[in-house]
Amino acid sequence: MANFFPNRYIDRTRFFKTNQLSNTNSEVQIIGKITAIKEIKQKRGSRLVAQFSDAFGTIELVWFQGGKWIKENLKPNIAYVCFGKVSVYNGKFTITHPELELLSDYKKSLRTAMQAVYPSTETLQKKYINNRVIFKMMQNLFSEIKGHFTETLSHEIINDLQLVSKNEAMFSVHFPSSQEALRKAQFRLKFEELFYIQLQLVRKNKLHKTKFKSYKFEKIGANFNNFYNYNLPFTLTNAQKRVIKEIRKDLNTGAHMNRLLQGDVGSGKTIVALLAMLIALDNDFQTALIAPTSILATQHFESISELLKGTTIKIALLQGATKIKARRAIHESLKDGSLHILIGTHAILEDKVQFKNLGLAIIDEQHRFGVKQRSKMWLKNTLPPHILVMTATPIPRTLAMSVYGDLDISVIDELPPGRKEIKTVHRFDKNRLSVWKFLKDEIAKGRQVYVVYPLIQESEAMDYKDLMDGYESISRDFPSPKYQISIVHGKMKPEAKDYEMNRFIKGETHIMVATTVIEVGVNIPNASVMVIESSERFGLSQLHQLRGRVGRGAEQSFCILMSSFKLSADAKLRLKTMVETNDGFKIAEVDLKLRGPGNLMGTQQSGILNLRIADVVKDTHILKLARETAKRILEVDVNLELPKNNVIKQTFGKIAKNQSLWMNIS
Ligand code: ADP
Ligand code: MG
Repeated sequence: MANFFPNRYIDRTRFFKTNQLSNTNSEVQIIGKITAIKEIKQKRGSRLVAQFSDAFGTIELVWFQGGKWIKENLKPNIAYVCFGKVSVYNGKFTITHPELELLSDYKKSLRTAMQAVYPSTETLQKKYINNRVIFKMMQNLFSEIKGHFTETLSHEIINDLQLVSKNEAMFSVHFPSSQEALRKAQFRLKFEELFYIQLQLVRKNKLHKTKFKSYKFEKIGANFNNFYNYNLPFTLTNAQKRVIKEIRKDLNTGAHMNRLLQGDVGSGKTIVALLAMLIALDNDFQTALIAPTSILATQHFESISELLKGTTIKIALLQGATKIKARRAIHESLKDGSLHILIGTHAILEDKVQFKNLGLAIIDEQHRFGVKQRSKMWLKNTLPPHILVMTATPIPRTLAMSVYGDLDISVIDELPPGRKEIKTVHRFDKNRLSVWKFLKDEIAKGRQVYVVYPLIQESEAMDYKDLMDGYESISRDFPSPKYQISIVHGKMKPEAKDYEMNRFIKGETHIMVATTVIEVGVNIPNASVMVIESSERFGLSQLHQLRGRVGRGAEQSFCILMSSFKLSADAKLRLKTMVETNDGFKIAEVDLKLRGPGNLMGTQQSGILNLRIADVVKDTHILKLARETAKRILEVDVNLELPKNNVIKQTFGKIAKNQSLWMNIS
């Protein structure tokens, strides 16, 4: 109960006189007496109106509900403290449904300058547990148990960080005596909450490293060196170099690598993946790269084959459609070790696919894969292969710390040089003619165009209609044979989808009309315009992912966000953000602020959703402090065995018992 925290506070230091009120709809408290009560019949039911007076004047108190009970219980001509929001009704200052408390009770009760307001949920409201009831319960609770909370942080932490004690914090958060006391109490409680989450995550990461051994890739040999020194098609960005170093170091410790590689679309994750593969190869290990779709797997296969041209490295593609004969050959060469790199879809995860010595598994676009599938890779060996997960969904760093705190994270935060910013504009439906004209001009220059429609599960039928209507009108406005149009959506058979995609990839069609199925990773450098229809219906990260489909070639690329004229404030901010920036991390920050962490990828499995008092968006500095503190403690005492960490160990044990934060992310 005491852990049910207020979400705001109201100032109850000041008493207003009835002649000091103003019509600002703010909350005030007034001392006065009830001088008259009457019931006024209305069309439906009645309302109760009381005159409330002090020495300076009279205001009206109004109840629309519960009038009978109030009428019977209110005492006339006795001093009350009246609290509520002031408005003006019929030319008179009025407080509707005020809180009333006898002045004598008010003086006796446990109460402080700033009064807590508790978040009221619907269920609580239904049970008539409103703020007042909760506040009363807290008063009772704290009058009884005041000073009896067990300390949950160690002396060392409390001293080092100058925190207030648990007791003081708990008391002050419910009954703050001043802003300063409240701030200290909140800081302490937020820190504690984040600290124990970070302690779990950091510890899990540490244990993972000691518990799970994997192969030690000591050698950097000819495969890596030759490629790095002579075959790199471009100069690596500093971010790419840094990330490769991080991976190299991981692979050489003997501990199991469990690393997340974050990089915006187009930041160049593929080459990093390839270099990691070459390190494995130099140590005589095979590698696998798994992509969520056939198209992506094929693209990876083609670009990596291209990069490895002229080497003796053997590479194969395995997907659902791979013919039996080719499949058999792959199985055999995997087993005898003559195949070095296998790229494919989840077909790779099937039991029949057995490696001689799989040393590294790279998984592209992580959110398409379940936790189960990842762990399946482990079963293919005596030791688990190193795991590198690549994701293009940028998550703000601070959030990543709490969501993926038990993974190691590498970030490519820099795009290759010379990349042209995608020009993004927002257009309304009434501008369609000029948008179409623009598309025709671009197509005339030899470019290709995407037109994407939303597809939301809840309104699927409607959305398909929109898509088909759109396709028809585009077919009319861009007539064949001059214009060729592809269409791809989720209801098509995979083969039909691949066929249409391939026509577009080969440049046989000019326009690709699609639902969001094209969102993931597809690389078609000649496609330079992305039109997003009903863009107000997309989330920010999705808009960003879609936009990332263009801007992959040498040409200037464009993203056109189409929307209706009427937009919600959130939708406006989303579109404005897209127009203003191409930076995936900035976009992720805005997204986080708009939607909260609950909707971001991956957060579902994390404890940060159930935070009682801290806020991952607002309290990032406390989060960092909590993480650093947890790291420092575990560095010397991973099992919390030192006497000075006893308090932490006990609290930690209790928390672990009460929740299943121990979910195995990998
Ligand atoms: P993503 O991170 O989205 O998977 P890719 O690995 O597909 O990005 O790279 C996008 C494009 O950028 C590719 O055409 C790739 O060849 C190119 N690229 C990657 N790194 C560099 C670099 N350092 N300099 C120039 N071009 C690069
Ligand atoms: Mg990629």
